[in-house]
Amino acid sequence: GEKMRIGIAGYGNLGKGVEYAISQQPDMELVGIFTRRDPSTLHPIGEKVTVYPLADADQYVHDIDVMILCGGSRADLPEQGPALAKLFTTVDSFDTHAKIPDYFAALDEAASAAGTTAVLSVGWDPGLFSVNRLYGESVLADGATYTFWGKGLSQGHSDAVRRIPGVQNAVQYTIPSEDAMAKVRAGEQPELTTSEKHTRECYVVLEADADAAVVEETICTMPDYFADYSTTVNFISEKELQEKHSAMPHGGFVIRSGKTGENTNQVMEYSLKLDSNPEFTSSVLTAYARAAHKLSVSGQHGAKTVFDIAPGLLSPKDPAELRKELL
Ligand code: NDP
Repeated sequence: GEKMRIGIAGYGNLGKGVEYAISQQPDMELVGIFTRRDPSTLHPIGEKVTVYPLADADQYVHDIDVMILCGGSRADLPEQGPALAKLFTTVDSFDTHAKIPDYFAALDEAASAAGTTAVLSVGWDPGLFSVNRLYGESVLADGATYTFWGKGLSQGHSDAVRRIPGVQNAVQYTIPSEDAMAKVRAGEQPELTTSEKHTRECYVVLEADADAAVVEETICTMPDYFADYSTTVNFISEKELQEKHSAMPHGGFVIRSGKTGENTNQVMEYSLKLDSNPEFTSSVLTAYARAAHKLSVSGQHGAKTVFDIAPGLLSPKDPAELRKELL
């Protein structure tokens, strides 16, 4: 049949990842990239891909089935989400957990009025991890759910270290605590705070006259960011940082530990190990774009989350094929 026509709104890490992901999907084609910057300054991976001003997006409503929103959660999506949902069926990776209810309401109003479908907060967390938390607590009603993040690069924590006087460059990884994971997997259902579940690892390049001991102390005692965590600081050269720490790995674990019957332990575990957080998130966005299109075509409009979307809708295969091959 006809290919699903996709637009990309915003061309950062996710935008590039979506461009790659679309090229791997048999039933999708990229119509164009939309940006707030001067289109001539962007260089898409595909040489023939056209870049349009985002302000002109309303001229393409009949050419695009789903607009994949790749803007940032903090400043871009709260504005772009509802504005673009008035024009297109959309999918985004909004990840400010505390603001999801407000964002849902704004999208639901825009999409319901326009007769579009707006799928929000898709990715891995929120996204695939959310689905697994839901499976866990629905299946094992008596139990506890644990989310561990990492090993992952944290942009916010890396920035915080870079702002310390004497620091030339730095990256920070969040790492799940082996001790805590072992307790959870053993069915002990411990009470754990976020800082008990994770440790932090920093790789720091010092400026020429900086005092390593002072920098290390400043990092380890930084309130909110490091003070409550077990933190290790490694000093390395700029060359080593560029060579070994310029990727954006991430991942983590969702574990549900529960009891059934008399006192039977049951543990459900889902894990991700990602060499590139944005490329993976983009791949999830692309699969959910397919579901968004199917919902939109079938008249199911308004805002939807991963909880509202049946898994079969993510696949390019039809339901009969899926029953035969994957059930
Ligand atoms: P980026 O900062 O790379 O891009 C965000 C926007 O900034 C782009 O859409 C682009 O808009 C603009 N931009 C990008 N590069 C430049 C540049 N060089 N100069 C000026 N503007 C630029 O963010 P990411 O793509 O890495 O992430 C987007 C969001 O995805 C994050 O805010 C995060 O919340 C979310 N996310 C969600 C996950 C999940 O699991 N749910 C996982 C990972 C991320 P324009 O082209 O219009 O200028």
